[in-house]
Amino acid sequence: MEADGVIEGFSKSIELHGLKFNKLIGDGDSSVMKRLQEIQPYGPNFFIEKIECTNHLLRNYASKLNTLSKVTKYPLRVRKFIITNIIRFRSDITKSVKHWIKDSKLTKLQKIKEIQKDLANAPFHRLGQHLNCASYFCQPAEETITLELKQQLWHLIQNNFYGKSTKKLPTTTVQENLGKNI
Ligand SMILES: [Zn+2]
Repeated sequence: MEADGVIEGFSKSIELHGLKFNKLIGDGDSSVMKRLQEIQPYGPNFFIEKIECTNHLLRNYASKLNTLSKVTKYPLRVRKFIITNIIRFRSDITKSVKHWIKDSKLTKLQKIKEIQKDLANAPFHRLGQHLNCASYFCQPAEETITLELKQQLWHLIQNNFYGKSTKKLPTTTVQENLGKNI
């Protein structure tokens, strides 16, 4: 997001359009919102809500995976696995959201919690570990990648997406902890 342009747009909205903007459509970049909160273009008592744009979030997710696949300190076959599965990583997320959003029995908060669980589990699913996959989410197929590749890939994803490091493929307990961090 062009931060300077957005800040200017908010700062001059009254002068140019006679309007105050009360929403910012975000792209996952928190720096713009932080600057708006510092500048307070309409004073300290005017609340500006941030709405995350799904397309931007998914694009950023895919873009980060793409960047990871180019970091040469990681083994080539791990990077190849990522680059050939970016669409699948991304579709795991949209699949989860589409499933839970239409569940009329759950509250909004419950839906969010279910989606969080699926998001935390998605890398495990993609790595071939289906222990915590919801029944709607997948029909576990035979393992298609080796344990070594799974461990290397998991190490890379965890370091870059969760800020933690482990040498082993994580256990269920670790997955539950991850769920709280997303
Ligand atoms: Zn699965």
